[in-house]
Amino acid sequence: MLSEIQGVGMTSMRTRERLISRLYEEGITNPRVLDCIRSLPRHLFVDEALAHRAYEDTALPIGYSQTLSQPYVVARMTELLFSRGTPERVLEIGTGSGYQTAVLSQLVKRVYTVERIAPLLEKARQRFQELGMRNVFARHADGGFGWPEKGPFDAILSAAAPHAIPPELLEQLAPDGVLVIPVGDDDQQMLQMVVREGDTENFEIISVEPVRFVPLLSGLRG
Ligand code: SAH
Repeated sequence: MLSEIQGVGMTSMRTRERLISRLYEEGITNPRVLDCIRSLPRHLFVDEALAHRAYEDTALPIGYSQTLSQPYVVARMTELLFSRGTPERVLEIGTGSGYQTAVLSQLVKRVYTVERIAPLLEKARQRFQELGMRNVFARHADGGFGWPEKGPFDAILSAAAPHAIPPELLEQLAPDGVLVIPVGDDDQQMLQMVVREGDTENFEIISVEPVRFVPLLSGLRG
């Protein structure tokens, strides 16, 4: 497993276990998701100066006014993506540090991820390479349009919040596909789960819980 490759010390193992217990108490029960978070070295996804806080259940800055999501939020969104079975092809919008991507890469066949800020994407790509994650395909693009050439996807996860769900994302959902996305303005966002009903154009929308994400911005940043 990854944890062995990374040579985890005892202190780190204990702080990781504490995080897993906390996530469980907060209602994360999917054992595959918990195991994955336990074994994944989150400290490699932040600056060295923040590494000692990597196993706290808190969001951490990654530069360019962006943040690596709180472990609870990563776990919750991943669990929701799996609530209708195991997706094979997953699209992620907002690669950021690449941590959520890495979680998904352990659990599904292929992960497609898009990020609009080039230097963040570059760093994330290096991490995927160092960790030997060969099922991750990353692209510098505006994720508001999805990744039409690679769709349809069994599941789509957005780590950035639009004001309203972009129709392109719904179009790129496979039959019975699941989209998990925060929607709304800065101070009033709701995590939503959208399920395509079979191969129809009907979508069931479930409001999950209030959340706080960075906004989904349009256009690219070099
Ligand atoms: N899942 C990430 C969270 C990063 S925060 C992690 O684990 O670190 C959300 C990310 O979405 C930011 O990096 C931001 O630049 C990106 N983002 C915002 N709008 C976007 C868009 N339209 N297309 C692609 N990425 C976008």
